[in-house]
Amino acid sequence: MTATAPTASLATSLAASLGISPETSPTFSLSGKKGLILGFANEHSIAYGCAREAQRQGADLVASCVNEKALKWAQPLSQQLGIPLIPCDVEQPGALQALVDQAVAHLGHLDFVVHSIAWAPLDDLHGAVIDSSASGFARAMQISCHSFAELAKLCAPHMPHGGSFVTMTYLGADAAVPHYGMMGPVKAALESLVRYMAVELGPRGLRVHAVSPGPILTRAASGIANFDALMEQARRTAPLGRLVTLEEIGRLNAFLCSDASSGMTGQTIYVDAGCHAVA
Ligand code: NAD
Repeated sequence: MTATAPTASLATSLAASLGISPETSPTFSLSGKKGLILGFANEHSIAYGCAREAQRQGADLVASCVNEKALKWAQPLSQQLGIPLIPCDVEQPGALQALVDQAVAHLGHLDFVVHSIAWAPLDDLHGAVIDSSASGFARAMQISCHSFAELAKLCAPHMPHGGSFVTMTYLGADAAVPHYGMMGPVKAALESLVRYMAVELGPRGLRVHAVSPGPILTRAASGIANFDALMEQARRTAPLGRLVTLEEIGRLNAFLCSDASSGMTGQTIYVDAGCHAVA
């Protein structure tokens, strides 16, 4: 007799019978930990999902949004969580330094930092990668990749007990995903940066991770052409037969920020219902 993999619905009901669902979770304690989370835009933002879960696990937080204009949508969320929200456009000279200074003034020190920001000019993003402008490519790299290194340099001196840095990447770093365009090479650079940062920061007890979620509908994602088709394809091919939830992404992030993941650094970790495993 040959063993067969459980069907998606059987897998889902098995998980439910164990008390595990996309919305509920076993806990990793972040009690007493202090974290800075960049990237609040609205209630769909991965940064918001990470903040909600980190707070649920006991963390004290400071969050950021891109600028004053973004406060209109982001501030109700930070108010709901009862945490400070600081505008920070990483392209502006001195903005990251000011953010870190204010976060440290509020929290005293940092134990984890979540970089959940990305941007590319739409004209460049929607065209062929070979047609992208050098200036557009450079801006996408600065905002979506190099800012993670800058952030780590500024935060590391305020992490005396060690801790974690987490950034968000996507499968389009590993394979050419239709319409992901120029963000593919940018995310590939980000994943490589994670490995170099892990080597450089490991001796200081600082761990570095890239989380690679499957597609979920957010404002950044809506900038990618045919994103609905990408989600539909993920839903169809995912071994778990569904998309991932914001809660599941937040939970992986919380695990990586907690002492429960103390032996891990330098990796890209998927939370994509298994999409990365399917050709
Ligand atoms: P989002 O639009 O909610 O978040 C993106 C954030 O980046 C926004 O808050 C935006 O203001 C911020 N940002 C853009 N330019 C900035 C700048 N110059 N300075 C500071 N902040 C800036 O979308 P999201 O999907 O939550 O994106 C968060 C991260 O997750 C991104 O790195 C994205 O590539 C990654 N990701 C998203 C998906 C998905 O399907 N949504 C999948 C994999 C990875």
